[in-house]
Amino acid sequence: MTKDIATLGRTREILEKYGFSFKKSLGQNFLIDTNILRRIVDYAEIADETGVIEIGPGIGALTEQLARRAKKVVAFEIDQRLLPILADTLSPYPNVRIIHQDVLKADIRRVMAEEFSSVHDVMVVANLPYYVTTPIIMKLLEDHLPIRGIVVMLQKEVADRISAQPGTKDYGSLSIAVQYYTTAETVMTVPRTVFIPQPNVDSAVIRLTKREKPVVDVIDESFFFQVVRASFSQRRKTILNNLTSQLPNGKQQKEAIERVLTELQIDSRRRGETLTIEEFAKLSNRLVKEWK
Ligand code: SAM
Repeated sequence: MTKDIATLGRTREILEKYGFSFKKSLGQNFLIDTNILRRIVDYAEIADETGVIEIGPGIGALTEQLARRAKKVVAFEIDQRLLPILADTLSPYPNVRIIHQDVLKADIRRVMAEEFSSVHDVMVVANLPYYVTTPIIMKLLEDHLPIRGIVVMLQKEVADRISAQPGTKDYGSLSIAVQYYTTAETVMTVPRTVFIPQPNVDSAVIRLTKREKPVVDVIDESFFFQVVRASFSQRRKTILNNLTSQLPNGKQQKEAIERVLTELQIDSRRRGETLTIEEFAKLSNRLVKEWK
């Protein structure tokens, strides 16, 4: 087996060989701890027949660990300067394919159909670029991709928001959006010292396991998320105020909103952060009829 990429010595050697300088704007913080990488791969439960999508392979630290266990790894990397480096560091792994593309612009479904014809299941595993964590996670979920789940490193603060429960300060539209599609667990917190350069925030690894179907039945998904976002738009305002001021035609529909809240026994003076996902589903399913 070749020497691990994810050690301080080997990483420095690679960076020097290619004269690579980090771009902060691309969220480039590379992992230099092989144990943490192996644990990430363990949490993702990668088997011989698993296909893996990685986002942002960097110099290949995580990619290599994934390639040793998975059937195939397809990795999206935006920074062209990393392509020759990856071709070198990952040359022992013929089951890796690097795609030079911004993952937010990628047609991941098509790539999966082309690259993963013979795999048993697909996981997304990544040490995410922190400047685009939320858009990447939301794209993976909203595209309804045929994946088993997602195991990613991200800012601890975002991990806390994703797994937050009603009535807490971290609970918001991101918690609801992710928990609608998945069960979310924070499986590891990670110190800054295992990155080069060190980020200025704490990190965590979350595991999102896709539900067979969303946790609540919703008549109109896009209206449901509109109601959720409106309810959190000003956290100190009541649910009634937020819905009337933020939903399209909310002001004209004030009476209908009040009536629906009363029927559902949701006090109109409550704040969005106290409503459960089930309450949001009931609320949007009743309101959508008033909007049609
Ligand atoms: N996986 C490596 C590791 O763990 O050491 C690098 C992780 S680093 C936090 C994030 C990586 O994502 C960088 O290689 C960066 O160039 C890449 N990246 C940033 N924005 C991206 C985007 N929109 N699409 C694809 N890759 C991106």
